[in-house]
Amino acid sequence: MLEIKNLHSGYGKIEVLHNINITVPDCKIIGVIGRNGAGKSTLLNTISGIVKISQGEILYNGEKIPSKAHKVVQAGIVQVPEGRRIFPSLTVNENLIMGGYLASPSEFSDRREEVLELFPILKERYNQQAGTLSGGEQQMLAMGRGLMSDPKVLLLDEPSLGLAPLLFRHVFEMIQRCNEERGMTIILVEQNARMALKMSDYAYVLEDGEIVIEGTGKELLCNENVQSAYLGASVNG
Ligand code: ATP
Repeated sequence: MLEIKNLHSGYGKIEVLHNINITVPDCKIIGVIGRNGAGKSTLLNTISGIVKISQGEILYNGEKIPSKAHKVVQAGIVQVPEGRRIFPSLTVNENLIMGGYLASPSEFSDRREEVLELFPILKERYNQQAGTLSGGEQQMLAMGRGLMSDPKVLLLDEPSLGLAPLLFRHVFEMIQRCNEERGMTIILVEQNARMALKMSDYAYVLEDGEIVIEGTGKELLCNENVQSAYLGASVNG
């Protein structure tokens, strides 16, 4: 279980997140929705050790989360960043190798097989330079690379960004499978609020760095304030 308690964080003197309290039980999907600039990426970056905590704490299984990003990955918490930050000059396979750097050789080949089974397109593009993949393929590679370290908790930042409807559905099916078949805990940050809420066991609405509404995915889908502010313009879902 991941617990975020009275968390404040930001960049230098600018505080972006104010007094955030979020509980993430094991094997659940927790959604975070909010407008551009609300602080969603900052939240994920704080969990993954990229942005420093200025007040409060994040506990993972009752212990303070490591403050260094690579130790957070070692603890099993892995972020798939927004904007598909894959290594563009490396091949698909080399990107997967980078993602699996903590694995033993046998774990590595099992995981690579699993990732290629989840995302068959990566098998077809195996030796292609990652920067030449389409946007959707890069998104899948970013997820595949994240899965190579066999995370217990996956932090997904806008996985649907820029995806055509078919790929969009495929990516969300993969997220559901990671949760249901592999018991992965998932924090899902999404602009597509409708899809995020449909998939989430519990969700939070972030506005100007504060949580303003929370509830089960179903509750938020029926909430009038959420509907008028976030569900009108959803596409694809
Ligand atoms: P989006 O949906 O557009 O990605 P977001 O909800 O993820 O937005 P953040 O990227 O967390 O929002 O940004 C929250 C605030 O923090 C914004 O005002 C942004 O300008 C600011 N911010 C983000 N990154 C930095 C940075 N590296 N240095 C200074 N300010 C930053």
